Amino acid sequence: MTKKTGCKKCDTKKTKKNVYFFGGGKADGEGSMKNLLGGKGANLAEMAGHPKLKIPVPAGFTITTQVCTAYYENAGKYPKGLKEEVQEALKKVEQVMGKKFDDAENPLLVSVRSGARQSMPGMMETVLNVGLTTDTIKGVVKKTGNERFAYDAYRRLITMYSDVVMEKAAGIESKEGKGIRQQLEKLLNAKKEEKGVKLDTELDAGDLKDLCEKYKTKVKQVLGKAFPDDAHEQLWGGIGAVFASWNGKRAISYRRIENIPGEWGTAVNVQSMVFGNMGESSATGVAFTRNPGNGDNNFYGEYLINAQGEDVVAGTRTPAPINKNSQSEHNRHEIMLSDFMPDAYKQLDAIQEKLEKHYSDMQDLEFTIEDGTLYLLQTRVGKRNGPAAVKMAVDMVNEKMITKKEAVMRVKPSQLDELLHPIIDPDAEKTHKPLGKGLPAGPGGAIGRIVFDSDSAVEWAKKGEDVILVREETNPEDVEGMRASHAILTTRGGMTSHAALVARGWGKCCVVGCGGLDIDYNKKVATIGGVSLKEGAWITLNGTKGLIYKDALPMIDATKENKTLNSFLKICDSIRNMKIRTNADTPEDAKRAREFGAEGIGLFRTEHMFYGEGAEKPLFLLRKMILSDSVLDRKVALKELFPYVKSDIKGTLKAMAGLPVTIRLLDPPLHEFVPHQKDQLSELAKSLDIQMDVLEKRVSLLKESNPMMGHRGVRLGVTYPEITEMQVRAILEATAELVKKNTKVFPEIMIPVVGMDKEIKDQKAIIAAVKEEVLKKYGLKKLPVMIGTMIEIPRAALTADKIAKETEFFSFGTNDLTQMSYGFSRDDMGSFLSPYLDKDILSRDPFQSLDTEGVGQLISIAIERGRGARPKLKVGICGEHGGDPDSILFCYKAGMDYVSCSPFRVPIARLAAAQAVLFTQ
Ligand code: ADP
Ligand code: MG
Ligand code: MG
Repeated sequence: MTKKTGCKKCDTKKTKKNVYFFGGGKADGEGSMKNLLGGKGANLAEMAGHPKLKIPVPAGFTITTQVCTAYYENAGKYPKGLKEEVQEALKKVEQVMGKKFDDAENPLLVSVRSGARQSMPGMMETVLNVGLTTDTIKGVVKKTGNERFAYDAYRRLITMYSDVVMEKAAGIESKEGKGIRQQLEKLLNAKKEEKGVKLDTELDAGDLKDLCEKYKTKVKQVLGKAFPDDAHEQLWGGIGAVFASWNGKRAISYRRIENIPGEWGTAVNVQSMVFGNMGESSATGVAFTRNPGNGDNNFYGEYLINAQGEDVVAGTRTPAPINKNSQSEHNRHEIMLSDFMPDAYKQLDAIQEKLEKHYSDMQDLEFTIEDGTLYLLQTRVGKRNGPAAVKMAVDMVNEKMITKKEAVMRVKPSQLDELLHPIIDPDAEKTHKPLGKGLPAGPGGAIGRIVFDSDSAVEWAKKGEDVILVREETNPEDVEGMRASHAILTTRGGMTSHAALVARGWGKCCVVGCGGLDIDYNKKVATIGGVSLKEGAWITLNGTKGLIYKDALPMIDATKENKTLNSFLKICDSIRNMKIRTNADTPEDAKRAREFGAEGIGLFRTEHMFYGEGAEKPLFLLRKMILSDSVLDRKVALKELFPYVKSDIKGTLKAMAGLPVTIRLLDPPLHEFVPHQKDQLSELAKSLDIQMDVLEKRVSLLKESNPMMGHRGVRLGVTYPEITEMQVRAILEATAELVKKNTKVFPEIMIPVVGMDKEIKDQKAIIAAVKEEVLKKYGLKKLPVMIGTMIEIPRAALTADKIAKETEFFSFGTNDLTQMSYGFSRDDMGSFLSPYLDKDILSRDPFQSLDTEGVGQLISIAIERGRGARPKLKVGICGEHGGDPDSILFCYKAGMDYVSCSPFRVPIARLAAAQAVLFTQ
């Protein structure tokens, strides 16, 4: 994290408000103040204080993110006056709640909750029941008459406080399974065993009281410090821990992945406790105003009776469904909240509706019912996977809840990936019996080799292995391993568990709560359905259904018609004005891209016809042409090659009828086409009827020490005009034949690797001559063909005015343009890319996301100069960057007419192009 030095605003800061109160129908802050109050704090203020909401929220206050920033600027010291402000706010809370903090008669207990601007699932920790001491616990018992509850709250406080405040925030690193929390959980489990019970709800007051004593002894023994028996020390310990955790290892690692600046800081929320663990009339739960897994407009949630806080997500007990829509195979036998507490449920349902309307978006809610009374603890915009995001966006437009523009901004381009995700081949799935079943927490299918810890996942993935992380449950320490894995599988946890939440955020395939799976971490073996799986074993997950299969099943791309996706993309199309083309080299690719919505081909690479299926003959002829040593021989070979090239181009032009197709003339250095194996060479020599040594000599003459900057692109056409001639004839004859059949075709001949306008002049003369002949041959007056060039050499960009005089379109070949701007060879960059990224010399791989600062400047200059010379110049991009959302935004700003990307990225580009319009409005 970068630390700011010098504090210009210190004086003004002193007078700034550090603490914002909420509760009793009032709030100092509001929902729009996320930067200052964090997401949680701002929404608590909104729920409590907004005149249209007035939702029952336990009173509390928020310490601002600025305090966190100041705390780090001042070496861990709080700003002056903070203590007094906290004291004052606490007094207000006491008034609203009618209780007193640190009071032996009628004690107020609070939670200390972190809350950054952006939700960071599980990153920052929460301590509940703060203020319970040997003194105040007596008050709680007296007040509630419920000793069991008091000690249940106390044992939870000791667990959370020792874990979060005394261990993690203090920077104490413990070995796997040796953390204080696990050690205390062992005591809890021992107690359960001793009493012969399964659930902690089955322990009585005496058991819990005894446990609390054991807990305290353990804490002292493990951490060398006593659990504080002082309410204020607990409160400030909690506050300090939240701030400290902002710069904890896990938080930093999560921020790096999510690109959250360290300077943002976190807020701290101190809120009076309400208790879901007061007995059978109390409960706690998590809910979504719509189903976050598929987007259905159904209130959806899980809850637990007689439980507190994290119990629902911790996965120690199976949560029950709040209503029918939330039922699954796993929880069907549990009682629904709508049946169990119909009044509280009705109230909750009314509140969720109000909240969704108010925020005009799907909300993720936390609620607690204390002795029949409902409280809301949190609301925020709910995370959703790709399919759900698309469905909600379309539905909400239809419901008139949001505008089309809002809908477009509701889906991240990367989320569309999930809808185009691979799935297990349904035929293969039919014939395989699953080993087991869990909850479907992240859609799509995945195959991979299993590993049992996060570090191995990262290591294996680095080696290029496909991995699936298998854990009993995940926690924030696993985040990097989860990231590196294709999929995540857990034995515990529900749809709102950590694993499910994180996977959903990333759109990863994920199965949770697979109870039949047994993991032995020491032996690195998992057992499921009677089968043992060692580390490294292949499995297949169906994250849409929650199924686990042995071995790697075949996968297919889920490209089948998706109505909701199409409606969504149509909304995008109504907003974007940049065209989306595709890079396709075969009629099949062209067809598929059209189905995805491509509006033309931005790059048809002629050389691709020499690779793959059915390419042997044309490749042989090409080789023959390349290795000819006289113009005559070359012409003969080209003549033989001609029909292949023509039919290939014709097929693609036909598949794209009505749309433009940019056909690039032969681009790679010829040496790339020559066989490298001896036997293949000798075969070639035989069929060319020349001696092997002659052939070898010719081959060696083609070798270049820097082929990417060698004899390629337009240079081939300049030195061998007959090559250009043959290709142009193929294009124009194919066009003429289609035109005669009334097929609308728009070929665009693109000349690659141009650096000088004279190169184009040279090639245009050839094109003109061929055109003349073709027109005559077919008895036509004109042909719908454009001539343009690829801008991929910096000199071309700089002399774009001259080049535009000769060409009707520019297509930016940003792969080569990036290569030549940086002087980075794309093929050799692997050896130094990592250190460049690690040292932050490069912030991203410039071949993946366009370098807008340098390469972008060349593009802007070229467009400006090009359009200066030819105002109607058509401009597009056909490099790899054409499918990258950030690069698409740049292309839009630079004034391009279209972007071109691979067929599978066309939907993503349609969305990104629409978002580009909205970002710049
Ligand atoms: P997270 O950001 O990890 O969800 P939270 O601060 O929301 O952390 O709290 C964790 C759990 O504790 C949630 O289930 C929340 O509802 C519960 N909780 C927090 N504060 C209170 C409170 N004052 N009373 C009752 N439950 C609370
Ligand atoms: Mg938490
Ligand atoms: Mg929460």
